[in-house]
Amino acid sequence: MDAFHGTAQPQVFISRTALLHNVRLLRQSLAANVKICAMIKADAYGHASSIIADALTNWSMDQIEAPAVDALAVVTIDEALVVGRTSVPVIVLRPLESASIAHQRDALGSALHNGCTLTVATAQGAQDLARVAIAAAVRVNVQVMIDTGCAREGTPIDSLPRVLAAIESYPSLKLTGLCTHFVSSEEPGNPLSVEQLRQFTSATASYAVHNPEVLRHAANSAAVFFWPSTHLDMVRPGISLYGIDPTCRPNCQRPLRPVMKWLAPLVMIRQIKKGATVGYNQTWTAARDTRIGLVPVGYADGYWRSFSNRAKMILRGKPVPVVGRVSMDYATVDLGDAPEACVGDAATVLDNDPLSPASVYALAELAGTIPYELFCRIGARMRRAAVDPADSQENASWSIQTSTSAAKSA
Ligand SMILES: *Cc1c(COP(=O)(O)O)cnc(C)c1O
Repeated sequence: MDAFHGTAQPQVFISRTALLHNVRLLRQSLAANVKICAMIKADAYGHASSIIADALTNWSMDQIEAPAVDALAVVTIDEALVVGRTSVPVIVLRPLESASIAHQRDALGSALHNGCTLTVATAQGAQDLARVAIAAAVRVNVQVMIDTGCAREGTPIDSLPRVLAAIESYPSLKLTGLCTHFVSSEEPGNPLSVEQLRQFTSATASYAVHNPEVLRHAANSAAVFFWPSTHLDMVRPGISLYGIDPTCRPNCQRPLRPVMKWLAPLVMIRQIKKGATVGYNQTWTAARDTRIGLVPVGYADGYWRSFSNRAKMILRGKPVPVVGRVSMDYATVDLGDAPEACVGDAATVLDNDPLSPASVYALAELAGTIPYELFCRIGARMRRAAVDPADSQENASWSIQTSTSAAKSA
């Protein structure tokens, strides 16, 4: 079949409908006054922060009015600049460190002018930020990340009064948030989880009473679903927005809808004889005469080498095994049981059906990791494209519309 025109490319499709559906599901777990801060760090867990931020702030659907969320959060200043100005606050979670301020002065200046909320964890960090804010002639919103057991980036509880006093002493700083992060929120009865919440609420209680406009937040996706007493003023879901259950297993009681579907065209088909081998180091030998399909995604694109001879892709609704080594730029599939497959067909590399053998759950398990890491490693070479929530035929648009064979298969 010569229908492949060379314009079809592998693409990661992002369903805005599924995204907004997940926001609606999250809202149903929250009291009406609880705000949602959408975690769009690491390029929105590989989903493209530009697409996700746009959908979350500009799109409406059913009972969801734009903006669908109350804030967005990233980790670095550079990530915040990619998102740019939006109708909701953008929070930069990594505490500003004195040592790095000099190196990112321009980026920091842009972030201040965009109205970003910055995080500080030390009195020195507050002082340095205050100076930069004065120089930029802006008043900057700041929040404090408090360490209650993660032993990561936050302020230890006993240093909190000093940090808060420092922030209050600089008129160029305005405190807008106090937050912490759980170690094991998927285990709400775990004594450490209980102790973290207790430490956070008691360390911030009197401050919260006197400053009701300061938002207290702690809950990630797991805490949103499993532990209502952590909701406080705002929650910070990440993985669940993208439609993945925080248990990292498909869950029919919580009908989250995966937002991502990754497709790639079958670019070539080669007939091989029984006994022939496929790929580097001859790790697979044909047990019968068969056809081998070539899919232009490899480990450089985030399709893991450990999927070699183990993962499945979906072609024309059928699972087909990945055979031979996944290389940097290619994977090969055995089409022996898919005789109708032809060049130009879209192979589903990562499926949006949670129960599919090519779901992110299945692939993460093969890779020995969690869906979070699988998403984050999908490479920059894969173009991300949004699927429109207004499109009632959403399934029709999950396709690579270039080759005539793709049209035939529809
Ligand atoms: C990543 C992150 C979250 C979101 O966690 P999910 O498990 O993806 O919901 C929330 N808060 C902080 C501080 C994070 O780093």
